[in-house]
Amino acid sequence: MSLITRVRDWERRTRPTDPAIAAAMDRRWEGLPEHVKTPAQLLGRRTTGCEGTHGVFPACDFACKPCYHSADANKVRVDGEHTKTEVAKQMDFLHEQRGPQSHVQLIGGEVSLLEAEDHAATIDLMRARGRVPMSFSHGDVSDQYLRDVALDSDGKKRWADWSWAVHFDRTMFGREGAKKPQSERELQPFRKKFMDMVEKLREETGLRHYVAHNMTVTPDNVAEVAEVVRDSKDLGFRMMSFQPAAYVGNEQRWTSDFREVTDDSVWAEIEDGVGTRLPYKALQFGDFRCNRVSWGAWVDDSYVPVLDEDDADDLHARDEFFRVFKGNYISQDRSVIRWRVARLVLRNPGILPVAFGWFRRFAKRAGGLRALRSGPVHPMTYVMHNFMDARVVAPAWELNKVGEVSDDVEIRAAQERLAACAYTMGHPESNELIPACVQHSILDPNENRELVSLLPMPTRRKPQPV
Ligand code: SF4
Repeated sequence: MSLITRVRDWERRTRPTDPAIAAAMDRRWEGLPEHVKTPAQLLGRRTTGCEGTHGVFPACDFACKPCYHSADANKVRVDGEHTKTEVAKQMDFLHEQRGPQSHVQLIGGEVSLLEAEDHAATIDLMRARGRVPMSFSHGDVSDQYLRDVALDSDGKKRWADWSWAVHFDRTMFGREGAKKPQSERELQPFRKKFMDMVEKLREETGLRHYVAHNMTVTPDNVAEVAEVVRDSKDLGFRMMSFQPAAYVGNEQRWTSDFREVTDDSVWAEIEDGVGTRLPYKALQFGDFRCNRVSWGAWVDDSYVPVLDEDDADDLHARDEFFRVFKGNYISQDRSVIRWRVARLVLRNPGILPVAFGWFRRFAKRAGGLRALRSGPVHPMTYVMHNFMDARVVAPAWELNKVGEVSDDVEIRAAQERLAACAYTMGHPESNELIPACVQHSILDPNENRELVSLLPMPTRRKPQPV
């Protein structure tokens, strides 16, 4: 490549706003329903939303109650070639529909059932399509498996960083050493064990990690949420996400009255564990009935939110930030992000006093500059993602497809939420973007039935009489 071509390429990659990303954002904003087009909305401004894979490796070696997989999931063979082929098709489609960069969960079964080489190759092909993959697992994996995925045959790390979403809660049955946990506390050593493994890998190889902790919340464990939040604060997770259980997936795995648990009761538990109010209305991810998110950092023993929804100056800073920093800043090359930001600031120097003002307020909330300098500062995001029940999703989706609105309050609410969905799966075969609620409620059972024929479990020959 000649010098001029390289300079041109660099100039294009470090443009403050990538035209393809800006176009994807505009399309996303245009497609949003009016009720979520608020000043706080992130979709269509900073992100096109999260994405997930589906129908690739539906099997799991746990028996959770509830389980969002359909009853046929465990009759399907986990197949590396099938996974790579189908994930590539889905990522190509999402790239075309949702723009060149996004976060994607490698999900749809237990990812660690994939052979390590297949897992690594799938991450590679996702990254090649501008996706930032997050491997979704129950976390009951060995140190050796982590290394086999993360390191090549020369023992060198394959990537600069690796994201995980790990699920730990006592609705999960099958964990080695805690097959049928009776309390969340019993799982704390297993949370720590996973985080110790990824941290050791980082120390030895430099492979950075971002780990999101997931927990399904039912009437049985809701009172333990605060304790999990408190006890996990120093384990190194970067996100703690709580999902009130929904009536989705395998009906035989439904247990207590899930709907006794409400958004407010779960959020109050998280706040109790954090020890402070968690503002979540300054930034909106889709519909508040689906997602509540509070971004912030632990500064020593205090949690400090990035934005306070009751502070007019914080809201002004948010608005300015949205105006100046259009599009997302996801890149596998951090130097590209730094250059893009630098060029933007040069073009919009007025953002600097706004940024300083925000930092002053953040530092004040943290207890002053000295507190920021002396204590450890650990970024942490608290999330509640509230899946819907299949019984409302099915009619709501049908009505949305024909452009009609239900008279039923619950179904109308589901329609609104689906229209503003922040978590999408790509279906290249039908040219559709499908909300995860629809995927699990409606499409998974058929998809898995087809996979049972396509990828049958290996059958063993009966012992022959001698
Ligand atoms: S998957 Fe369901 S609960 Fe989640 S954002 Fe989409 S519509 Fe809302």
